[in-house]
Amino acid sequence: MADEAIAATQTTDRYGVMGYPISHSRSPVIHRLFALQTGQKIQYELLQVSPEKLETAIRQFQRTGGKGLNITVPHKSEVVRLVDQISERAATAGAVNTLSFRGGEIHGDNTDGIGLLRDLAVNLGVTLEGANILILGAGGATRGIIGPLLEMQPESLRIANRSVTKAQILADHFSRSGPVTACQFNVVPVSKPYDLIINATSAGLTGETPPYPAKAISEDTFCYDLSYGLAPTPFSVWARECGAAQSVMGWGMLVEQAAESFNIWRGIRPETEPVLKQMNITA
Ligand code: NDP
Repeated sequence: MADEAIAATQTTDRYGVMGYPISHSRSPVIHRLFALQTGQKIQYELLQVSPEKLETAIRQFQRTGGKGLNITVPHKSEVVRLVDQISERAATAGAVNTLSFRGGEIHGDNTDGIGLLRDLAVNLGVTLEGANILILGAGGATRGIIGPLLEMQPESLRIANRSVTKAQILADHFSRSGPVTACQFNVVPVSKPYDLIINATSAGLTGETPPYPAKAISEDTFCYDLSYGLAPTPFSVWARECGAAQSVMGWGMLVEQAAESFNIWRGIRPETEPVLKQMNITA
């Protein structure tokens, strides 16, 4: 059947998440729960797409009547060049995690930053104003969270990454918005304790624990892993072993950023607390 014919046969609005790998994603469950809660009729698919097939896959999803996509590892920066319209926060981040297909155009937005802020500040009660923050990793997710974190006026924000050049590019990009610096994992300054350490590497997806700076953790440090799993992630285990005050996985951010995407697509923001409870997961 031709793409247009497929589109014409659909009655339920189609959404999905594209990434590589993607099998770990819980986004379909979350959006199903949001749809039930808000009475919206949607279908949400898990789409494994390698980098070289990304553009073709997005355009085919659009042509066949798809209404919106979440974009995840490792495509968030690459997809920026494919959008016709981009929100200010996604443009500032240089990364897109939410696509909407409207009137033949592709709109790009980024809900990672607001999702993380809501989980940290609202759900978990972490004070960001005046905090010393260390982010591990400098990929698409880091791009999305730096701007919103800086708006909360931390005292300092350091980005440490395996490839220091990528961290430096981000620090330069955001330096006008706040006190951002960059370095490699092995030279993270530890003279002053960090209030918050955020793991935004994807190393945990392959079960790896890179040489994170153990001395950056004190008994007052709150550690947050953007990665999440049914079993504790390698970073969350490492942080606990290093004596962090708290070590939390990114389930809350996942649900909060998904609620923002759902709102962009459907014009209604679901309640996140019951969904976190229904998923029966602990931080
Ligand atoms: P990207 O692919 O864009 O970036 C990956 C980052 O991880 C890079 O900084 C890369 O370093 C680093 N990295 C990967 N493997 C290793 C390793 N073995 N050792 C050290 N560093 C490594 O991914 P994203 O930024 O999009 O996502 C990062 C993580 O955040 C993923 O696990 C993703 O699932 C999670 N995430 C969770 C969200 C949530 O809602 N909870 C939302 C968004 C993301 P280098 O530059 O040197 O290659």
